[in-house]
Amino acid sequence: MNGIIQLKNGRIIDPTQKRDEIADLWIENGIIVNPPKTPATAIEVHDVKGCWVVPGLIDLHVHLREPGEEYKETIETGCRAAAAGGFTAVACMPNTKPVNDNGAITRFILEKAASCAARVYPVGAISQESNGEKLAAHGEMKAAGAVALTDDGRPVLDSRLMRRAMEYASSHEMLIMSHAEEVSLSRGGCMHEGEISTRLGLRGIPAAAESIMVYREIALAELTGARVHISHVSSEQSLALIRNAKARGVKVTAETAPHYFTLTERAVLGYNTHAKMSPPLRTEKDLQAIRTALRDGTLDAIATDHAPHSILQKEVEFNLAANGIVGLETSLPLGLALVREGVIGADRLIELMSCAPAAILGVAGGTLRVGGTADVTVIDPQKRFTFSTEKTFSLSKNSPFDGWDLQGKAVLTILAGRITYCDI
Ligand SMILES: [Zn+2]
Repeated sequence: MNGIIQLKNGRIIDPTQKRDEIADLWIENGIIVNPPKTPATAIEVHDVKGCWVVPGLIDLHVHLREPGEEYKETIETGCRAAAAGGFTAVACMPNTKPVNDNGAITRFILEKAASCAARVYPVGAISQESNGEKLAAHGEMKAAGAVALTDDGRPVLDSRLMRRAMEYASSHEMLIMSHAEEVSLSRGGCMHEGEISTRLGLRGIPAAAESIMVYREIALAELTGARVHISHVSSEQSLALIRNAKARGVKVTAETAPHYFTLTERAVLGYNTHAKMSPPLRTEKDLQAIRTALRDGTLDAIATDHAPHSILQKEVEFNLAANGIVGLETSLPLGLALVREGVIGADRLIELMSCAPAAILGVAGGTLRVGGTADVTVIDPQKRFTFSTEKTFSLSKNSPFDGWDLQGKAVLTILAGRITYCDI
């Protein structure tokens, strides 16, 4: 992309350079420069006074429904929602139809994504068809461009298969991401097991269904020396295990999603299927533990677990409804609320939503260093808006935050010097 962009008077926050200051950011031909080398003729100037200028946000955990369920989301619409949410890159889970368990599907995703509004990093399946029986073609998917492996949506039940996956993954230098769920405990459940599930007459899922599997992944990472990433952590007990493992030097990282630090099981009252997700929303105590873990480093990243579903799969009895919410356009505002409430600082939020995801996936980005590709997000932390699923870029409307008054959002998203979203 030719030309020069000047972002004037913004608050530049870049944890990778320990930078937090009011300054101008210059982009020339898609690269961050300081100052531009060519004479200033055609400069696109944006006065971003009062805004934060940060490395483009990166989402570790997104479900794009293509191939197979394009009526829920396509790679293109998902990337547009990502750009509107301030993301310049997303990692997409393999549970498409067919499952991304071979190089051909990985290549298909990358070809579709090439012209889209965000970078897409495909994550391949651990097992063929993610059915937990035989390992998928890890080397082939890596060669095609997959950045990590997971059977997300379902856990790998067979511990021996997970051990082998970790052994292969560490020899391929690929990250294993774990959907931690002990299904013999969670099966048939549709919300957190506790007083509210009893009151509503719904079958519950105990927090132990998550933490038992989190501990298995830690034990296997310790056994194999592999690097493992725990997806969508929701419970206090899982966090205690991760904290302890990190202290022992186990190579484990973890993410949570905005709904787990914003909502509790009470959101299900009234049988609200938009609050149905896997793992389920938990207690106030879990929510507080997640906030602490975001602050103390036990949690490395905030990911959305953006999971588009058609309204038909949500407007049914609670126990029959699909799991998940669309999250790309609410993640940043909900994260900014943590900063306003003093839970974390602005720099920590950017670390959680950009620098750390880049490091965990081993991809470029997550920094504003001079000479690097200009993936940049401008955030207006003051801007108030009412989130409406009717106005989102996602093809699906399943969000418990529909109608919420939110404060703070991305106002300019720049991908390699190209503006992919502008709301200034
Ligand atoms: Zn999952």
